[in-house]
Amino acid sequence: MSENNEYSFYAAVVKSFKKAAEFTKWDKGLLEQISACNAVYRMRFPVKKEDGSIEVIEAYRVQHSHHKTPCKGGIRFSMAVNQDEVMALAALMTYKCAIVNVPFGGGKGGIKIDPKKYTPYELEKITRRYTSELIKKNFIGPAVDVPAPDYGTGEREMAWIVDTYAAMHTHDIDAAGCVTGKPVSQGGVRGRKEATGLGVFYGLKEVLSMEEEMSKRGLTPGVAGKRIVIQGLGNVGYHSAKFFRDAGAVIVGVAEYEGSISKPDGIHVDELLEFRKRTGSILNFPSAVNLENNKAALELDCDVLIPAALENVIDGENAPRIKAKIVGEAANGPLTPEADEILLQKGVLVVPDMYLNAGGVTVSYFEWLKNLSHVRYGRMEKRFNENMNARILQEIEDLTGKKVNESSKTFINHGADEVELVYSGLEETMITATREIMAEWKANDHIPDMRTAAYVVAINKVATTYAELGIFP
Ligand code: GLU
Repeated sequence: MSENNEYSFYAAVVKSFKKAAEFTKWDKGLLEQISACNAVYRMRFPVKKEDGSIEVIEAYRVQHSHHKTPCKGGIRFSMAVNQDEVMALAALMTYKCAIVNVPFGGGKGGIKIDPKKYTPYELEKITRRYTSELIKKNFIGPAVDVPAPDYGTGEREMAWIVDTYAAMHTHDIDAAGCVTGKPVSQGGVRGRKEATGLGVFYGLKEVLSMEEEMSKRGLTPGVAGKRIVIQGLGNVGYHSAKFFRDAGAVIVGVAEYEGSISKPDGIHVDELLEFRKRTGSILNFPSAVNLENNKAALELDCDVLIPAALENVIDGENAPRIKAKIVGEAANGPLTPEADEILLQKGVLVVPDMYLNAGGVTVSYFEWLKNLSHVRYGRMEKRFNENMNARILQEIEDLTGKKVNESSKTFINHGADEVELVYSGLEETMITATREIMAEWKANDHIPDMRTAAYVVAINKVATTYAELGIFP
């Protein structure tokens, strides 16, 4: 499937799916339907660059499953984009959404460009043209297919998309719901930007609290003091690192594109990012050690390794040298199936991508709901709750004759803001999903790893939807 006839990411996803399907009771045809990519839209369009030259751009949107609509999934800008990759990522979205109970089918988009090589004006032209192509074929809309940020894209691109869509759908009162990950001023939700990294943190925190899993690997439960290595300091890697550090973990290594560093007493990621902005590199960060290349940090001695960049970074070659006890897949597909097998033999707990990085799509779901309801979270109940809390506290003080101190009073009385509701909705989602997957794994001794257990959970949920639709007896 891969265009360069090498590693096929899509084949790896299908392989994991088939392995898990063995542990389910569903009809072969139904399983085939769940695994198949429903629609692939491959497009090419021209863009005139600022120097007057014309370039033909290659782009995709894949809708993997329509068992629930709209389809959902990010759009990435990267030179590694090809049909195989977008299909694999769209499939992962289907399973991801099912696991976290987000009512969407999986989708994914990609534009094969290196965004660093274009001016903002050119990127805007490319993004708007891509959106127009999606509109032409009915591949975007709040009820049809809802893109979001992914590798190489962010709020700015989402703002261009919603503006293009809304301009061409002036009668669609729900037009803002055609894309998520927008700036708050354009209908975005507070907390979306950090959502994937925060979800990685909540998911791993729950895993790290599991006494049995920790003792099997010689670890004590809890986040505080855990030694973490992060690969990729983009939106996902940066926020994962930040939330771990805030909770008392120690970031002992960081890998980026230009190289990797280690610092056993801990790296402050904000300082590192600031340093990188100033010098153009993470290398030579004060009191850190430069490692031999940009993948070397993956092999550092640590408790949790978090690959948060692109797919296929741990393969059969470097997997034997991984020393982490837990690998948290913040990226999509960072392990090849061969690496997966090797880490399993070594007793490493691999916490799988399609649920661990589901924080982004979970908060996208909250954003989409906000767009459809046309009201900010907390707007209706914030003041009511504050008044009620103040009244309850007053009653308690009157009945006990004691006074609560001012800072506790402010905390107890306050009504939740949008961002607090989003965070708590996300925390609940990640904890529930972690427990559900672990329970599935525990219930069947033959399920070899957490990834397979996650697939089983996903397959059962998607299959149930089909079965209840009555399509498959
Ligand atoms: N691109 C993110 C992912 O891979 C987010 C998708 C979304 O929010 O729809 O999960």
